[in-house]
Amino acid sequence: IVVGRSVAPDLAELRRLALWLGACAAGVLALGLAGGWWVATRAIRPIDAISAAAQKIAAGDLAERIDAGDTGSELGRLAQVLNATFDRLGEAFARQAQFTADASHELRTPVAVILAQTETILARERQPGEYREALEACRRAARRLRHLTESLLTLARLDSGAPAERPDPVALDRVTAEAVDLLRPLATERSICLDADLAAAPCAGHADRLAQVAANLVANAIHYNRPGGEVSVRTAVEDGAAVLAVRDTGTGIAAADLPHIFERFYRADASRARAEGRSGLGLAIAKAIVESHGGTIAVESREGEGSTFTVRIPALSAGNPPRYSAAPPPGG
Ligand code: ADP
Repeated sequence: IVVGRSVAPDLAELRRLALWLGACAAGVLALGLAGGWWVATRAIRPIDAISAAAQKIAAGDLAERIDAGDTGSELGRLAQVLNATFDRLGEAFARQAQFTADASHELRTPVAVILAQTETILARERQPGEYREALEACRRAARRLRHLTESLLTLARLDSGAPAERPDPVALDRVTAEAVDLLRPLATERSICLDADLAAAPCAGHADRLAQVAANLVANAIHYNRPGGEVSVRTAVEDGAAVLAVRDTGTGIAAADLPHIFERFYRADASRARAEGRSGLGLAIAKAIVESHGGTIAVESREGEGSTFTVRIPALSAGNPPRYSAAPPPGG
């Protein structure tokens, strides 16, 4: 007995199944491709935004920032960090531009004086006395130029990040005593009582630069004092720091000026200070020097009563190895 059954319906069923599976596979593939493309473009978009913003900043548009978008994602956080870095770079750039403008402005004045004096005096024959007067005005302007250029050079050296110099042991009390002795005639001339209480204060660093800090603070305390006022200078070791404190009974500093007095070219009474030939760089240099020694400088002041400037530098001791770098600490 031969029994037969047509397999055509089964084959047709199998073909349908194969077609269906093929269609499904194509659908899944297409879906996969579309999904992959969507995910990839979504992932790349922030990177594109970052590189576009970086390109604009590199081209000089310092105000450009990256759209941080989703701050919870890794790329969002990266964008935030980059924006904060660009902010800091922008501020540093603006400070530098301001500094250059201020420096040029300050340098221009004595140059203009020298030019005006020489052009006027050479316009016709003069009496010997007139030549002398003009030359003296030129000498004053040239001295001011020298003071400014030396100050700018000191700041540039402190800023440059030059390799650290080998620190020497420095007796802060001794360099301060020398500064006080140098400035005593000026104090006497202005009827100011200059009192020094100098206990041993050993630290490490650059003696000439620390002497410059002491001289600057004492000179300011005399200059911004009243006739018959007092200046007291103190050195000691306190809480592991060599301390130099300079107190005066002078004009004091207005609360609005206090946050700015360590800025370059800042003068509370700018027009008067400029007329007196004061540059507004002394405290900025003092701060840069103190910070290059790993120290701090602070001021307390009340208008009309006086000011106290306090410098703290890590004291030299067995447990405190010397530390001195020519460049200020990062962010300082
Ligand atoms: P300047 O050459 O103008 O004295 P500084 O950098 O030494 O520059 O000081 C900056 C400003 O801080 C001064 O113009 C002055 O207004 C203020 N100042 C500094 N020291 C004193 C002080 N002992 N008493 C009052 N004001 C001071």
